[in-house]
Amino acid sequence: MSRELEQTQRNLKSSEEESHHRLLELEVLYRTASVGLGFLDHELRYVRLNEALAGINGLPVEAHIGRHASEINPELAQIFVPMMEQVLASKQPLLNVEITSAPPCERTWIVNFHPVTNARTFGVSVVFQDITVLKETEDLSTRFGRIVRSSDDAIISITLDGAITSWNPAAEAMFGYPAQEVMGKAISVLATSRNANELSDILGRLQAQQLAEGLPQGERVESVCRRKDGHYIDVLLTVSPIYDRHERLIGASEIVRDITQQKRAQAALLRTNEELRQFAFAAAHDLQEPLRNIGLHAQILDSQHKQNTEADEQVESIIESARRMQTLIRDLLEYTEAVDIHGAQGESIDCNEVCQTALGNLAFAVSDCAAEVSVAPLPTVVAEHAHFIQLFQNLIGNALKYRAKGRHPQIYVSAEQRDGHWVFSVKDNGIGIAPEYHDRIFGVFKRLHGRDVPGTGIGLAICKRIVDHHGGRLWLESEVGGGSTFYFSFPDC
Ligand code: ADP
Repeated sequence: MSRELEQTQRNLKSSEEESHHRLLELEVLYRTASVGLGFLDHELRYVRLNEALAGINGLPVEAHIGRHASEINPELAQIFVPMMEQVLASKQPLLNVEITSAPPCERTWIVNFHPVTNARTFGVSVVFQDITVLKETEDLSTRFGRIVRSSDDAIISITLDGAITSWNPAAEAMFGYPAQEVMGKAISVLATSRNANELSDILGRLQAQQLAEGLPQGERVESVCRRKDGHYIDVLLTVSPIYDRHERLIGASEIVRDITQQKRAQAALLRTNEELRQFAFAAAHDLQEPLRNIGLHAQILDSQHKQNTEADEQVESIIESARRMQTLIRDLLEYTEAVDIHGAQGESIDCNEVCQTALGNLAFAVSDCAAEVSVAPLPTVVAEHAHFIQLFQNLIGNALKYRAKGRHPQIYVSAEQRDGHWVFSVKDNGIGIAPEYHDRIFGVFKRLHGRDVPGTGIGLAICKRIVDHHGGRLWLESEVGGGSTFYFSFPDC
């Protein structure tokens, strides 16, 4: 054999080996690819396919071979068989077609169809790429974008240096700057001279928190911003951290709510409340003086004209009315003082101890009607000591006062935690209250009883003011004849 022939044979062998090697590589790639790959003949029967495509159809690879596409996955085939027919007829590829399977397991693919024509085969190759997650992310960001655009709150994002990177329409309306004017500018454009460093301080804290504890939480503060026209607005600012894919802090989003009207209304309410409080206090004080005089003179008349029975009765009635009015005024004063809780500093108080003090004050009434009072372990809350005694005393006092005839009063005081609050309850087995009066009895001087039961109807009104002031709620459950349970909630702090 000539040397040349030998060399040619060697070259041929080596290129055969090379091709074999390439084919093996391609085979591995084909089998392990995460995209679905397959080849169907001109009758649209599966010839070859990889695991990923078999997975899309939900059948093993072997179950496909020789079978028509519409036998394998009729629902999906209904969409792509016409496309393959088109490719076969036109011998032109059909690229980047988006196909979505029907719910409930909705998935989306980008599919490419290529005609394959050579001497031996005529068919179509398909490539399925699953883009479901991509689509979901896209949908989410479209939805999120819509929310941001239609929000009434200004939503702004900034870099860690405070440069503005997004600015929604509400921000344009709130601050008077169009987006193109502020994008890339420093957020300090909204700051006033007094809070110039507020946001950079918050960003600094977020960064420090991330270094110390991992993922920072963000902050919510009331602040003041300056509009483009120079006016100031009161705002509630919620600053939240923005992270990249690697959970690295890269900026912050600011949700800004205009609370100017709310702040004005609050200030007006405070002023009105203060005026009312002063008015009630002065009225109650000033009324006492003439009332004392009426009582005094009526008593003098009474002692001087004892013989005239008719006059006696009228004078007696004047004295009684004056006494009652004095009691009402005293209670009104007590109510205004209970309302006057501005100055009252909350302190940590042990409710077990406070409840015992209230029971001590009611000791006579308790023993007088042989009441059985049990108190479950109570928590410690932050409140004003005197107010808490008053709460327990008024509620337990009522439970004793409104006892049912022929039944020893049984009273149970307890507390339980619910949704960040302590809910206290005072339960009795007394006369009960019809549901239609459940709201009414909390009003000033509102009572369901005549003079035969002592009282002016101020006790529950005082309780309500105290509980309201601490951000809690006072309510009851009761039926006539079935006893009552009064509840009041108190923030657990
Ligand atoms: P007062 O006891 O001075 O009338 P309150 O404001 O304490 O005033 O109570 C208002 C009214 O609610 C009472 O007149 C009474 O009719 C009703 N009430 C309060 N507590 C109870 C109770 N535990 N059981 C039945 N009725 C009650």
